[in-house]
Order: sequence, then structure tokens, then C-alpha cells
Amino acid sequence: MPSNIDIKKTSLKLLKQFYGFDSFRPIQYDVIEHVAQGGDAMVLMPTGGGKSVCYQIPALLSDGCAIVVSPLLALMKDQVDALRSNGIPAAAINSMQTETSNREIVEKVFAGQIKLLYISPERLLSEIEMWSSSLKINLIAIDEAHCISQWGHDFRPEYTKLAVLKKTFPNVPIMALTATADKITRDDILKQLGLKNAKLFISSFDRPNLSLNVVPNFNDAQKLERIADFIAEHKGQSGIVYCLSRANTEKVEAFLLREGYRVACYHAGLSNNQRQQVQQQFLDDEIQIICATIAFGMGIDKSNIRWVIHFNMPKNVECYYQEIGRAGRDGMPSDTLMFYSYGDVAMLNHFVEESGQTEINKEKLTRMQQYAEASVCRRRMLLSYFNERFDHDCGNCDVCKNPPERFDGTKLCQMAISAVARAEQKIGFLTLIDVLRGARNAKILERGLDKIKTFGVGATLSAVVWSRYILQMVQIGLFEIAYNEKNHLKITSYGWDVVRGNGLVMMSKIVFHDRKKLKESAIKKVSPQEQLFNNLKDLRFVLSKKEGVPAYIIFGDQVLQDMVEKQPISIEEFANISGVGNNKLVRYGKQFIGVIRKFKGLPANENGSSENITLYLYEHGYDIPAIAKLRDLKKSTVCSHIAKLIQLNKIVDYYKVIDEATYQLIIDKYKTKKEGLLFELKGQIDTDLIPIALAIFRVKQNFM
Ligand code: ADP
Ligand code: ZN
Repeated sequence: MPSNIDIKKTSLKLLKQFYGFDSFRPIQYDVIEHVAQGGDAMVLMPTGGGKSVCYQIPALLSDGCAIVVSPLLALMKDQVDALRSNGIPAAAINSMQTETSNREIVEKVFAGQIKLLYISPERLLSEIEMWSSSLKINLIAIDEAHCISQWGHDFRPEYTKLAVLKKTFPNVPIMALTATADKITRDDILKQLGLKNAKLFISSFDRPNLSLNVVPNFNDAQKLERIADFIAEHKGQSGIVYCLSRANTEKVEAFLLREGYRVACYHAGLSNNQRQQVQQQFLDDEIQIICATIAFGMGIDKSNIRWVIHFNMPKNVECYYQEIGRAGRDGMPSDTLMFYSYGDVAMLNHFVEESGQTEINKEKLTRMQQYAEASVCRRRMLLSYFNERFDHDCGNCDVCKNPPERFDGTKLCQMAISAVARAEQKIGFLTLIDVLRGARNAKILERGLDKIKTFGVGATLSAVVWSRYILQMVQIGLFEIAYNEKNHLKITSYGWDVVRGNGLVMMSKIVFHDRKKLKESAIKKVSPQEQLFNNLKDLRFVLSKKEGVPAYIIFGDQVLQDMVEKQPISIEEFANISGVGNNKLVRYGKQFIGVIRKFKGLPANENGSSENITLYLYEHGYDIPAIAKLRDLKKSTVCSHIAKLIQLNKIVDYYKVIDEATYQLIIDKYKTKKEGLLFELKGQIDTDLIPIALAIFRVKQNFM
């Protein structure tokens, strides 16, 4: 077994070489070390936390192949694409491919040509007998492991049979990974998998790059207007609008289409094919916005989703957190916005009643509602929900950014309570607003509500403002909502006290952002940095089309951002960009450097850039055949690069590239006979080395 120091050194080297990262994130290395030493592990990390590296590096550390059990085809494909583009041999076996190509992959696995194999649980179970005796498996990773548990939110029956893995492969480390698991689910996963000694690794669930915003009590028209502003502020950026119903997704889609956006729906009513297609177009940045019900689930692994909107409140905090978590997986700032209304609560309550586990779901819904209504830092609330300590305000949620201004709202409260009292506590939110504002609509007139004393006393405030104040009154506890009585407002004893003049009520002032200002800021000028970023994005787009992979597989937004900051103009500098491993350096380096050089007014090509790539690799431990293989060049070409680099004094350890005896042999021949060297030496030595020997000879002569 390798020592810890060796594991650490090698893992860091692999991280740089393949992924282009300089250091591990917290927890990542701890997991790797534990698994590399044969231990089982359970890894809890938020979406975007960096789970993949936790099992991919151990897979690279030892001989054999790692098996990754994954429930979703799209996820598999993504991971495999990403691994390959980093130069790591990976493949997937699944029902989307023909049986012939699946068989071919199995053969490759047995031939030791695959380091990571992605597979669905049912398929793995059907192959297991055959594999257990003859395949060298170095790790089994179970991704999205919450699917194993009835308590998790995405239960998949086929996952429950995976207990057989530990029995069949008692000596292979097993790792379960998930982004969401409370303690019950977590224990259940370990039990189901039969992992008695697994070590638990939990990273912080905080996602500081996600801004958290909640807008209460808008009606649909107001929501759409706000969405239009929001998307205008996020020009060209990918995002998802989550809705509770299919009808709503269609409504939002139609609206955004009219506004001129590239947008599509995603819900259970679409065929498999249609869904696949929508997903693919979204991945390829051909569609900017998806309006989805929750059916738009885990299948999306797009790292540059810049925003998520909830058109309705989700049914619990877990779902909410997972859905907003799809934004900003690359760590770049991303925005989330949730609309929330009592209509949502009523509808969700109804769903809960229909579901089996009423009590637990009701409790979860209440927690979600509390979050939506919070007047303290939202991140603090969220993390406390996940039992994580977080003892400061985050500065990146709406509450932190706009601490509500307080004022004496006693009079407003009295108006509202008295109106409800006079309507015999038989009116809901909207009717109350109509009464206060003095709206003479049919419903009001029919019920004679225009006759009551408080009719029209609040006409100076708009309906939206009223609705926000009434919401606060509910939050403060002046009213209760009778969900079982058409959502009518009922006055609490506290409310009666206030209306009778006993007690002062402090409320938060409602401020509205200025639509016009927002529109102006949205069309502000592009800075030079943004321009460069856009140029790099264009190149990425072209490359992604050429290679038939999603753009972010080439480079994530955060990698492009790092290029904008560091503006590398040579291969050497380009290698320092975070997220540029050797494979991508070789494949894309020249072109991206070209864009940056052009932006800076330099000639597009760095002098001798091809040799410099060879030099970079040489200095990083690649020998001539390895360089030729990685760069897909002929060996003779690489040798001519090396010869040139020797003449430029950039390579001086000559006898690492050519052994001394071969050098001597070539030079002896050369001294006697300048012509026809190649012919003379053919069969005796590797003739590709001739230019190298001659280069060394010349350099030496210059020194004599
Ligand atoms: P998860 O599977 O947990 O959702 P990923 O494994 O997809 O997350 O990683 C999320 C993002 O973080 C990716 O863009 C990945 O390249 C990046 N990342 C992972 N590990 C590191 C690291 N050590 N340094 C820098 N970036 C990292
Ligand atoms: Zn905050």
C-alpha cells in the first residue's frame, strides 16, 4: 500500500495534469486518501462541490477500472465527455447504445483500456456474475446515492439491489456520493449498501456564489413582468424557470417567446425523445431558457447555468436547494429568485393531503414557508435547516442587501383588521385588498362590501403594496389563514388587541426597484473584459460544434474568466490557467492564446508555439513517444521540435532524449560521411533521432 505522502504527491500531480487545478478543495483530498487506502466512504457535498474528482482521482491512482453507478443517461454521457476531453479514458454502458457497441466497451474494459466505466444499476447487476471473477475493479462509486433510500426524494427501486456489491466485491472500496441527504436518508443509504465501516465526509453546503432572493405575493402578470426584467439583467445567460404545473411552464414559455427569447418547456407531458432534444439544445446553448416542472431533474449537468427562478414555491427546502443548486456549478456568481404566494401554499397543502406521508411532508412545507417569509439572512436559515453552523449574515441575499426599513404600521394594521372584522372574517387576501382600495367590482357589490365603513380607506396604496403589508400582518401573527375555509383571513387574539388600540406594530417598509433604471443598467456598455470573454466564448462555441460536445465540456465559464484575468499569451502562461490540464493545453491552447493575443494587438501566433507545447510537455515529464501520442503528431515531428529546442538552448539535458552511445554512433558516421546518413543508419538505430544528434553536435561545436 502506498504511503500517504506518495498518495498526496501523485494525486496532486494527476489533478494538475488532467484537470489543470493546483489544489484540492476541502474534503476532496481526505476522501481520496481514505479510498486509496481501501476504505469505504460516504460523501455529502452540495451540487457543484466537486464530487467527481473524489472518485476519479482514486480511479487513476491504481490499476484496473473504476465502476461508476449512475441513474441517469444524460449525466453519464456528460461525465464521459468531460473525462475524455481531459484525456482520461472513460466510457458508458447503457440502453441508449446498441448492444454491439456496449459489447465493444466491455471488451475494452477487460483489455484494461478504460479507467472509468459508467453504468446503470440494472445493467451492472446483470453483468456482475461475469465480472466478479475476472475483472480488476479498483473502486465502485455510487453517484446520486440518495436514490437508494425510500426517504430520499428520488427513490429508484433498482438502486435497492446494490447491497450485493459489497458481498460480491468485499475488498473493493465502495463510495456513495450525494448532494442531499438528511441523517435518516444517510443512515439508510449505508444500511442498504451494507457498508458497515464507511467513513462519512461532509463538506459545507454553503454555495456562497448563489444569491438568494424571494419575492412574495405577486400575481402571475406581475411575476412575468419581473421575470422579463430579471432576464434582461442576465443578458444571454442560461437559466431555468421552475413551475409547479405544466400549465404554468407553458404560460411562462409563451410569454418569453413573445419577448424574443430562445426558450422551451420541459415537463412530464413530453415524450422521451422530445425531452432529450430539449435537454441537448439547452446543453449546447441553443436554447437559453428552460421552463420546467420538477421533471427537469438531475439529468442536467450544465456548469454555466447562471440563474434559476422559481415561479412557485417548491414543496420543501431540499427540493428548493437542489433546484437553485443547478445554477453556478462552476463557482461563478449566479442569481436565484423565488416567487411565493399563499396560493402556492394552498396548492402544496392540497398535494400533501393527497400524498401518503402527510405529517412529515406538512412539516417540510412549513419549513419552506418559513424560509420564504424570513426577515433574517436567508442563507443562515438554509444552512441551519441542513444543521450547519453559519454564524454571520451572508451579504448575498435580499434580506442582507436590503435590510428592511421599519416604521410604525399600527394604523395600516388597524385598517386591515377592521375591514376583515366588518366582513365577518369571510374574505381572503384579494377581496380584502379590494375593500381597502375601494374597488367596486362585481364580487364586492354582490356581497355589499362597499357598504362597510372601512371601504376605500387605503386607496392611496397600490394593490401590490397592500398585499405585501397584509402578508407581513400574517407573518407577524395578526391574521391566520384558514386553508380549510377558502383561505379566508381570521383575526387572532393579537389582531383583536391591535385593532382595539392595545399595542404598537412595527413593520418593514416595502420598497420597489425602479424598472426603468434596471432596463438602463441592462443595456450598459460592454467592458473590454466582457468583450474578451465574449470572444473566447465564440471560439468555444465554434470548437464545441466541431467536436459535437457541449460548450462547457471544452472549457467552463470560470476557466474563460481566468483567461480574461490572466490574459496568457504563451503556452507556458496558458498552462497556469485553472482548469487547463495537459490534454486541453495541447488541443486548444494555441487557438485560445490566438484570441487573447489578437485582443491585445499582438500577432496571432506566438513564435514557435508548436515547439513550445512540446517543450512544456517535455519539462513536465513526457518523453518523445508520449508527446507524439498526446499531440497526435508523428514521432519525427516531435524529434525535429526537440532538435530545434536544443539549438535554442532550451533543452540542455541532451542524454535524456538520446542515449550517449546512439549519439556517438550518429556523429561518428556524420563525420565520415555527410550525405545519406539516414540510409546508412537505417535498421541500426531509431533514425528519427538523427536531427537531435546533429543539433547537439552543432551546439557543442559552437562552444568549442
Ligand atoms: P458535483 O459533481 O459535486 O456537482 P463537479 O464534480 O461537477 O461537482 O465539480 C463542479 C465544478 O468544480 C466543476 O466545474 C469542476 O471542474 C470544479 N472543480 C472541482 N474540483 C476542483 C478543484 N480542486 N479546483 C478547482 N475547481 C474544481
Ligand atoms: Zn444573507
